Amino acid sequence: MSKIKFAVLPGDYIGPEVMTEALRVLNVAAGKAGLTLETTVADVGGAGIDNHGKALPDSTLDVCRAADAILFGSVGGPKWESLPPKEQPERAALLPLRKAFNLFANIRPGLLYAELTDASPLKTNRIPEGIDIVCIRELTGGIYFGQPKSTTTLDNGEQQAIDTMVYQTSEIERIAEVAAVTAKARGGRVCSVDKANVLETSVLWRKTVIDYFAKNHPDLELSHMYVDNAAMQLARDPNQFDVLFTENMFGDILSDEMAVICGSLGMMSSASLGTEKNSHGHPFGLFEPAGGTAPDIAGMGVANPCAQILSGAMMLRYSFGQLELAEQIETAVRKTVTEDGLRTGDIAFGRDPVGTTAMADAIIGNL
Ligand code: NAD
Repeated sequence: MSKIKFAVLPGDYIGPEVMTEALRVLNVAAGKAGLTLETTVADVGGAGIDNHGKALPDSTLDVCRAADAILFGSVGGPKWESLPPKEQPERAALLPLRKAFNLFANIRPGLLYAELTDASPLKTNRIPEGIDIVCIRELTGGIYFGQPKSTTTLDNGEQQAIDTMVYQTSEIERIAEVAAVTAKARGGRVCSVDKANVLETSVLWRKTVIDYFAKNHPDLELSHMYVDNAAMQLARDPNQFDVLFTENMFGDILSDEMAVICGSLGMMSSASLGTEKNSHGHPFGLFEPAGGTAPDIAGMGVANPCAQILSGAMMLRYSFGQLELAEQIETAVRKTVTEDGLRTGDIAFGRDPVGTTAMADAIIGNL
């Protein structure tokens, strides 16, 4: 491999600011490894609406289709909030992208450095060593997409709404495989979260997971937890988990809970992997910060670029198989924030904050 070819979708508000810095870092890291970046930038979200009339323009989709991965910023903000919900940037850009590339596996590291535990709402003495877990969420099935889904008026005039939770074995097995591969590169422990005491889909989920791990990954430590207990345990003692994995709606809630527990959105990256392989034989994926467009600080040059940079590192790992390069970037970010003590405003805690570009400069220095 000599070229890393990906689509760059910066989005809105702080999206382009942090994307610029992420690309600078990725360029330096790739250059050191003798690789060149081949990137095509395209509008998405509010920028797509303003310049092309829709949040995911066809031309942007074409750019993504021609690439091996998507590095995504974030979309939305006050400028487009009066649009009908279906046309709002986040919904009208991310959902079709998930659909177009069958992005079925969402991987969110819950990583909080020991030096940043003040950012967590948990008492710091509960997490002296910080937090290091991963949450894997099934992203294309379950109650968000199951049919029938409708609202009807009954004979007595009442309204009735129906959502349907559906899973089939193959959908459960493929997300179980992502959890297993992730756990193998970490502590080897997987906790599958379900509601098998109430839901049929969860009974199938648990049985499928047990059978799949017994057959394919007997070396891993597999446990199961009901979702209500998982929500409590995550707040009580997050580090009891290594890899958490679960279905779509439970994962939506638990991964957001995890983000809050880990403190700053400016540090949190994520990956959504598709079913298709890219031209290098690795999963096509979309990589993005866990946070939004932060309109309150946009244009001020103070946004934390780390989440976007770490999303770039995840892209190198998952969609290009560049494990060493990804680790070098992650180490440079960690060193900058912890040993060097450079902090943007969101993670400053009394220190003098640095701006977006200075933070990226320091990370490049550490590379
Ligand atoms: P947000 O994540 O944008 O901001 C929440 C808080 O976190 C703000 O105080 C913000 O300043 C801070 N923050 C977030 N990222 C930061 C960073 N990199 N550096 C420093 N501080 C950071 O959430 P919100 O305010 O609820 O949403 C703003 C807009 O973003 C909305 O339109 C929402 O729909 C959109 N959004 C988009 C995505 C996405 O594109 N995937 C995700 C979430 C929210």
